[in-house]
Amino acid sequence: MKPVIGVTPDFNAGDRKDRGGREPTYFLRDRYVRAIETLGGLPVILPLTDDPVLQQRLFDSLDGLMLTGSGPDLPPRLYGEAQRYKFRVMSRKRYAFELAMIARAIKTATPLFGICGGMQALNVALGGSLVQDIGAQLPKALQHRAPGPATAYAHAVRVMPKSLLQRITRQTRLSVNSSHHQSVKAVAPSLVATAVAPDGVIEAIEAADRRRHPFLLGVQWHPEYLFERSPVHRCLFQAFLRAARRG
Ligand code: MN
Repeated sequence: MKPVIGVTPDFNAGDRKDRGGREPTYFLRDRYVRAIETLGGLPVILPLTDDPVLQQRLFDSLDGLMLTGSGPDLPPRLYGEAQRYKFRVMSRKRYAFELAMIARAIKTATPLFGICGGMQALNVALGGSLVQDIGAQLPKALQHRAPGPATAYAHAVRVMPKSLLQRITRQTRLSVNSSHHQSVKAVAPSLVATAVAPDGVIEAIEAADRRRHPFLLGVQWHPEYLFERSPVHRCLFQAFLRAARRG
């Protein structure tokens, strides 16, 4: 049986000029769905319901949860800060749903894979914080909002020995793409940083205790742009799907 993977879409509540304008609109890049489908899972794009009963029924139907990237960012008050820079804030509908689903995945040790903004949501859900703007707060950092296409490698990351990420990729160094202006600042207490860019920016987080949660992984880059040509980045989805299949 193919594992059923819930995929969170992005949402324009009607306050954005793009993606539907004033009309409330869901949107999601096909690459996320394609990665799950072509690598042996059944992707299900999730409705962002705020009804806890429906959330629970949805959650119970899943073998794994994949949190996708987002243009707009989480409201900094979620990690106890005022918004210090100008950036668009994610619709409440999306982050409320994602935080609620993350809590369920943590409680049941359900395989969870967070990509880019999805990794940031995971960290914030568990009590961590974010760098609100890398360019402003870490002026010596690399350019993490790479100008080239997202299919191109932008920088390297160092992978922590014995981490889940190292076990999956069998690498101590990875080339990654980079399309983010925020990053993990304080790592949540139950998580650990397992990939770091040369400038110190955290690029992956995972469960500190893998016995408690065997597959809980967030990456700051976008493997959905790389999986077709890179076996290493393909491995991330494959390992996630294996974990979801085992249930
Ligand atoms: Mn980066």
